[in-house]
Parts: sequence; C-alpha cells; structure tokens
Amino acid sequence: MTLEATCCCKQISISLSGEPEMNSVCNCTNCKQRTGSAFGISTYFKTDAVLKKSGDTKIYKLWHKEQNHEQNRHFCTKCGTTLYWTISTLPHLIGVAGGCFAESEILEPTHTLNSSKKCNWVILPENWQVQG
Ligand SMILES: [Zn+2]
Ligand SMILES: [Zn+2]
Repeated sequence: MTLEATCCCKQISISLSGEPEMNSVCNCTNCKQRTGSAFGISTYFKTDAVLKKSGDTKIYKLWHKEQNHEQNRHFCTKCGTTLYWTISTLPHLIGVAGGCFAESEILEPTHTLNSSKKCNWVILPENWQVQG
C-alpha cells in the first residue's frame, strides 16, 4: 500500500509505503490548535517507510511539556499546513497529519489519546483503545 499526504495547497507532499505503526486521534489542546479542529489524527510510520518528500517546508520546534519531548514540525512555506513531524523520544517513527491523506485514504484510527481533553460532544468508536 502506498499512501500520499499533501498540504492544503499541494505544494508539499509525503509518500509512504506499508501500514502505519500507530494511528490515533489525539484530543490534546495542542492538536486542536495545530489542526483548528476538535482533535488531531496522528498517523505514525517507521521512518524507512518514507518513499518521497517533495516541496519546501519550514520547521518549528515544539517542546511538549506534558509528554516531555521535543517535536520538529514540518509545515508548508506557502499555506502553513503542518504535514509531518518527528519526536525526540521516538526517533524511528515519523508522524503524519492523518487528515492530510484526504486524496489517498484516511485510515481509521485505532487509539484515542488524552481523553480527558476530549470535547464532550465528540463520540468516538468504542472499539478504539483509550490511552490517557
Ligand atoms: Zn501548502
Ligand atoms: Zn495531541
């Protein structure tokens, strides 16, 4: 399986092969701000699953104090979409913004994270694993 994720303006893209290692909905405040939505979808692949990255990105570093790690977030220099990121404590993985697989296929998450911050009107499938 090959998946391609793109930013809003399609200037940047990332192609990956195989299945994600982890696919979760995260309800934390930071994911709400990153996406402008009620939650973020974080789809993690092994770094060697990356087939191709194209377009110009900039990086901003985020210190995630609750999870005690640093993120390098790559965003489009034209439209600002955060498309993918790396996490200091998970060097073998790359995170991709799950909603950016729009033209490919948005995979159903299997986990939900930071449930204490979940909007009370969001109802997620009961068969997903709940973490935190
Ligand atoms: Zn863009
Ligand atoms: Zn989050």
